[in-house]
Amino acid sequence: MRHPPTAITARTWMNTRVRVLNVTYEDFDLVPAARAVVLLAEQLAMTLVEHTPRFVVRSQYVAIPLPRTIQLLEYVHTPPRPTIDDDTRASFAGVLARDHYRCAYCDGAGATTVDHVYPRSRGGSNNWSNLVACCLTCNNAKSDQTPEESGMPLLWVPRAPRIDHKRQHTIWRDLAHSL
Ligand SMILES: [Zn+2]
Repeated sequence: MRHPPTAITARTWMNTRVRVLNVTYEDFDLVPAARAVVLLAEQLAMTLVEHTPRFVVRSQYVAIPLPRTIQLLEYVHTPPRPTIDDDTRASFAGVLARDHYRCAYCDGAGATTVDHVYPRSRGGSNNWSNLVACCLTCNNAKSDQTPEESGMPLLWVPRAPRIDHKRQHTIWRDLAHSL
């Protein structure tokens, strides 16, 4: 059990959030508990994992155990999240965030520029694997050279961020333990 059990009361259950999976068991959404209970009451979803400790949401018409994870009963199409890979064009803000604003050449904090590892002037791309956060000093020093030519080796290999994959993996793991 990763989460310490939290006592739920008639006043606090609405503050919890419920994971919603698509028919395919793929991550769909994270919704307020009240929304999840409505989906269950309207038989649009079923409970996969109940909240622990158990708490039953009661109204005039229904008594539904508070869920932790529910699954939609019909496939809901979502526009596919853009598949991010190393060859996907990256935004400069995204690169700075991925690298936590640390310069990829000197590890200095507060990097404000983005460097093309293989210089743009020589055809270097704007892909995740060719962009790194870089401080102004290093960016000027490296100029239109490769890391090898400038004698400034990269401190890490730039890759596309994989946040979504990580979250889906967590869901698979939780399901494996609770089903
Ligand atoms: Zn630097």
